Amino acid sequence: MDLTVENCLSNDNMILETEIKFLVGVGPKRADILKNELNISTFKDMLYTFPYRYIDRTKFYKINEITEDLPYIQFKGKIIRLENVETPSNKRLIAYAADDSGEIQLVFFKGIKWIKNKLKANTEYVFFGKPNVFNGKINIIHPETETVNDENNQINSNIQALYSSTEVLKNNFLGTKAFNRFQSALLTLCYNQIDETLPEYIIYQYKLIALKDALLNIHFPQSPELLEKSQYRLKFEELFYIQLSLLLQRLNRLQKNGGFIFPKIGCNFNNFYKNNLPFELTNAQKRVIKEIRKDFATGKQMNRLLQGDVGSGKTLVALICMLIAIDNGFQTCIMAPTEILAGQHYQTISEMLKGIDINVRLLTGSTKKSERKLIDADLISGKTKILVGTHALIEETVKFDNLGFVVIDEQHRFGVEQRAKLRYKNAVSPHVLVMTATPIPRTLAMTLYGDLDISVIDELPPGRKNVKTVHLLDTKRLQLFGFIRRQINLGRQIYVVYPLIKESEKMDYKNLEDGYFAITQAFPPPEYVTCVVHGKMKTNEKDFAMNYFASGKAHILVATSVIEVGVNVPNASVMVIESAERFGLSQLHQLRGRVGRGAEQSYCFLMSDVKLTTEARKRLQLMVKTNNGFEIAEEDLRLRGPGDIEGTQQSGLPFNLKISNLAKDGKLLEYVRNIAFDILNEDNSLELKKNSLLRKNLEKNFKKQVDYSAIS
Ligand code: ADP
Ligand code: MG
Repeated sequence: MDLTVENCLSNDNMILETEIKFLVGVGPKRADILKNELNISTFKDMLYTFPYRYIDRTKFYKINEITEDLPYIQFKGKIIRLENVETPSNKRLIAYAADDSGEIQLVFFKGIKWIKNKLKANTEYVFFGKPNVFNGKINIIHPETETVNDENNQINSNIQALYSSTEVLKNNFLGTKAFNRFQSALLTLCYNQIDETLPEYIIYQYKLIALKDALLNIHFPQSPELLEKSQYRLKFEELFYIQLSLLLQRLNRLQKNGGFIFPKIGCNFNNFYKNNLPFELTNAQKRVIKEIRKDFATGKQMNRLLQGDVGSGKTLVALICMLIAIDNGFQTCIMAPTEILAGQHYQTISEMLKGIDINVRLLTGSTKKSERKLIDADLISGKTKILVGTHALIEETVKFDNLGFVVIDEQHRFGVEQRAKLRYKNAVSPHVLVMTATPIPRTLAMTLYGDLDISVIDELPPGRKNVKTVHLLDTKRLQLFGFIRRQINLGRQIYVVYPLIKESEKMDYKNLEDGYFAITQAFPPPEYVTCVVHGKMKTNEKDFAMNYFASGKAHILVATSVIEVGVNVPNASVMVIESAERFGLSQLHQLRGRVGRGAEQSYCFLMSDVKLTTEARKRLQLMVKTNNGFEIAEEDLRLRGPGDIEGTQQSGLPFNLKISNLAKDGKLLEYVRNIAFDILNEDNSLELKKNSLLRKNLEKNFKKQVDYSAIS
């Protein structure tokens, strides 16, 4: 069935929900492809599939002006000759196009027959594509081709939109040109039925253009100015609704969740501060503790994200705040993502509290049943004041007497739901402090954790030396071994980290098994002791090896990235990362953070092959250049885009951004967040008539996130 204007109108403005197969030129087969490749199922999905860039179609190049470094260009020319080339590896058609300045090769690998039929001699065409160099000659592979007076689209524009494509799309003739046609047909059909999604007063006050004009111009810009206004309008709307929904959740939480008040600073805190604290707190630590104390006094439940680079002393901040909770008669817990980490927290905290009478317990998946019973009893009776553990803490069976404060370490390993589970362990939700060691760029934090309040430790304890970081080719391994030997002779310890446990047929990366063999050859026992930790080992084996290394009995720890998070062995001074190109920036930064924790100068060696992708080379260069986790996070966001930032996959970027870019649109994000904030300040449940559209759209698109019943 073809969709006519008439039968759309009868559908009222539901037209945008029409299945994409009904659009002229799509049909069922292509609809499936669009669904699989780009997740486009409806007219609306298509309309909201935005171009990734634009080119100026008013400019035509002369053939002799075309150089390899130009981006997409267009030129006019006639076909003067066709040539079939067949080699064992491929078949191709070379069409020679010429204008009065020269000639150029157009190369086609696919659809050769079709193209041969289509290209006619002595007809002038417009060719459009990206120049390349092959065998010293400039060519264009699969240029788009149209006759000079091709009136394919009903809507014309001098600025042509380009849409991202995939191999499958291209092979099915679903490239940019098809998209131009689809969008043109769609907009012709639906333009008048695109409902405004922002209230009039916002449109007026912030000088936005109407949604339908924004959608028209994003696909068919009528001028550069209108294109810019359209992009602004669509980004504004996208970021605004996200922030509005997040701020509503925050309001919701504050209003619904009354919180415990911890007014007292008592003897545990004072005792610890006076007798046990071995060093002065940094200013950043002091500031964050103040922020948390303020939250403890409001009578609202705290939900705070603490960001701080590796080694910035977050654990201590957490502990001090736990002592405040304990002084006010409450229990506390701290949850870590791995057993190794939980074990380390348990040790650190027990040691720090030496001489202070506080019951601290460790609960993980491998806690023995008998032990578990004792812990359960002490939790219920309120005797245990600090419970350290892993995910095991959130199991239903773990019951506290009066849990007042929860710390979640290394947040990026936990999902939002797990956070929620902990929060609801009490009738009154305990205060929650979420700590991350992977600094997240501010814009990303505002989106991922926009419903939380954010504190930052932006200062390392004094005397820390930067870890000297070197990018080393695999061929330099002998020198590296020499260096390691000298460090071991100085009494230091070494980490060597591999991306894989076993050799892989698919991936040519260094693996732990071969590495272990090579290391024990170069550093033979009994003079040198090497131990191994990887994710496939049983917990007790892992713990044993880890403790063996931590206690100084082993010189070298060969590991996979299980040691990435949090592990603290101050005497370790060298981190060797094999196939470093395999790791993402924040992972590299985490791994490097395992050294440089003691007084000695520490080193990080990023090993790689000579062959590297540009991206990988950039990552390694950045690591060599800076030790600053926030800088690395910003760059990571720029290089890879928010969807790929480590941790956001696990916890899930809750919003699918179609047009905004968190790396580039930070200013706009803050701007619209403030606007959303002001609106809620005036009308915290969006009840005013002028805000009804906001409420309607939030309910439609963000239903899961916001519970309106709780806002009043
Ligand atoms: P992270 O923020 O990575 O969790 P940790 O809490 O593990 O960092 O702290 C790293 C190290 O720094 C620990 O050995 C801790 O005792 C030490 N440390 C914390 N605060 C200070 C401080 N103010 N001055 C000196 N050392 C500190
Ligand atoms: Mg830590």
